[in-house]
Amino acid sequence: VIDAPAVCAEVLLDLPARRVDRRLAYRIPASLEPEVRVGSVVSVPLGSRTARGFVIAVGAPPPSVRPLREILAVAGPPLFSASMLGLARDVAEHTLSTLLEAVHCLAPPAAFRPRRPRPAPAVAALAANGAAPVRPGARQARILDVLRAQGAVPVDELLRNGGRPALRRLVARGVVVLRPAHIPGPPASVSPPAASPPPGSVPSPASAPPACAPPPAAAEPETCVWGGAGGRWPWIAEAVRAAVAGGGRALVIVPEIARVGAFARALAPEFARAVVTYHSGMTGAERQAAWARCAAQQAAVVIGTRSALFAPLRDVRLIAVDDEHDPAHQGDAAPRYHARDVAGRRARLDGARLVLASATPSVETYARVAANELACVRLAPETPRRVRLVDMRGERARGRYGLLAEPLVAAIRRHLRARGRVVLFVNRTGYARVLLCDECGAAVRCAACGVTMPYDAERRQVCCRLCGAAAPAPGTCPHCGGVRLRGLGPGTARVEEVVRRVFPALRVARLDRETAPAFSAVARDFEAGRLRLIVGTQILLRARDLRPSLVGVVDADLALHRPDFRGAERTLQQLRAVAALAAGVPEGEAIVQTRVPDHPAVRAVATGEDERAYRSELALRRALRYPPYAALARVVAAAAARDAAAGGAARVVAVARACGVEALGPAPGRESGRRGVFRFQCLLRAGDEAALRAAARAAVADAARAAAQLTVEINPQEFD
Ligand SMILES: [Zn+2]
Ligand SMILES: [Zn+2]
Repeated sequence: VIDAPAVCAEVLLDLPARRVDRRLAYRIPASLEPEVRVGSVVSVPLGSRTARGFVIAVGAPPPSVRPLREILAVAGPPLFSASMLGLARDVAEHTLSTLLEAVHCLAPPAAFRPRRPRPAPAVAALAANGAAPVRPGARQARILDVLRAQGAVPVDELLRNGGRPALRRLVARGVVVLRPAHIPGPPASVSPPAASPPPGSVPSPASAPPACAPPPAAAEPETCVWGGAGGRWPWIAEAVRAAVAGGGRALVIVPEIARVGAFARALAPEFARAVVTYHSGMTGAERQAAWARCAAQQAAVVIGTRSALFAPLRDVRLIAVDDEHDPAHQGDAAPRYHARDVAGRRARLDGARLVLASATPSVETYARVAANELACVRLAPETPRRVRLVDMRGERARGRYGLLAEPLVAAIRRHLRARGRVVLFVNRTGYARVLLCDECGAAVRCAACGVTMPYDAERRQVCCRLCGAAAPAPGTCPHCGGVRLRGLGPGTARVEEVVRRVFPALRVARLDRETAPAFSAVARDFEAGRLRLIVGTQILLRARDLRPSLVGVVDADLALHRPDFRGAERTLQQLRAVAALAAGVPEGEAIVQTRVPDHPAVRAVATGEDERAYRSELALRRALRYPPYAALARVVAAAAARDAAAGGAARVVAVARACGVEALGPAPGRESGRRGVFRFQCLLRAGDEAALRAAARAAVADAARAAAQLTVEINPQEFD
């Protein structure tokens, strides 16, 4: 090291346009050498101005004919470590983001605000070979006098003597040169870390017996924990305890901000101040404070949403991702990574144990369990004592077209009479308008892709979101010939109206996006028994303490008919979560209205045959070539002109096919044309992800000068 001093730094410029990486090499002046390392924030000359950047490598200068320019200043200690930079490189590589976009994950947003590093005060001096002007102005003359008398003078001081235009003119003529004055930084701030102190209080093993699961001590490197929250959370807590007791640290990642607090409360009594929470709902200052505690290694456990995966902790021994199936684990801003994937990469990097936990694992995770690639701990499912399916086809056959079937109405009456409380669940996620047969429950599907084709009422046609195939909307059900094709499922308001008609004396509350502000008041009234019937959407799942005695699912099939190959998977996940609201309640019951009671995903909710549903889903995915049997990427081309967007997507299809990768589409995206932006999407599919990424990269390179802007999402979670 002493023989070959590092003299050069590779700097990733932090420019506002994050879609392109600009990396430049700079010389490290001797005075800054102790301070500059990977992760340092530096200011550097760029053309005629000063730019900010991150040091991403330090080493010997690259072979270059031109002399390198010098780093001007360093702002404080490094923002990230070399190992976290490695994680960011990995994220960029796998999500096709730029390295700059990925590096922005390595610290809270406030750390990146254009708070310039202390600019190095420049000094001015006479140029060695500059010829003084023949007739300098009075101000120029004064500046020259000062420089002749004092040699190098700080620019600030010089400006008091002459003024900026005068100095600028002298510099332009080459009479005066400006150069940075080096300011030594605080070397203590970047001293290599000492051995980490034992974080937090180490709980005695006797203080908390493992709730219901085998102790995580003899740990598999990767484990799927499959079961209801009642068993899952204590299991994770026990794994956290084991990691911390061994002198390590733990990261717990949840999909929603609302879950962070609940999990932290579950762990807080033991770990007290050693628990740090981190999510985007916190203020900038709170996030920076949390990050600083991590960087100082004062946290034993970090609980947060996916951004917490980049917490600057050392000795991470456990990374747990709860509700690993939840699509909210993947964000829609670059880099578009899934928490499960990054957790896996960080676990390998840190040598930590990875735990993927869920009541209903993703099909991808189940496939790894089935193939014995992933250890699996099965815990009890969380389900009410009784789950019943009501076949709505029977109701229709009897000429009943109401939203609530007779068995559900009877059950509501029975529970209310027994002082029970009722929740009616109305699905609003699949808000694409699908054509659904009221008689047999079938939806109009694309013959090639197997997914539902949303209905465009204006054009009176159905169109596949994946491949773009379009057809006139059928007048009768292609499946059974039925004539009652509906365009939309019932909304909460409609269900509320029906309930009021059937139970006129009852107080009814509605919980959906519109009434969300009243959420906690409604939940409190319900828990206290002042209110005994709620009609609500997915928003209900935020409250785990509602504990209704009866859960009624008004239409279980809507999730099944999303224009997305994950429809069946989402159906099982959603129905389990909704039914779980009544779990643990004495006489708890769930009633699920459906037209497809034999569908494996719907059936499993009543019978508990989840494995069967997963196996049937895997067979379908294999036949139709969807993940985990293929890698997918969605590429969206957006432009202000419809033709430019459509043309951009068509080019993507052409480029991908030229790369030997299958391309479906282009198809118009949802709400294409809204607010003056047209969107067309296509779907790339390949046997392995490397081929897929190569094709997507080629498409992005091809579109660099095109009118449409491309967005790439590898392994997209939502297609709506
Ligand atoms: Zn039909
Ligand atoms: Zn299709």
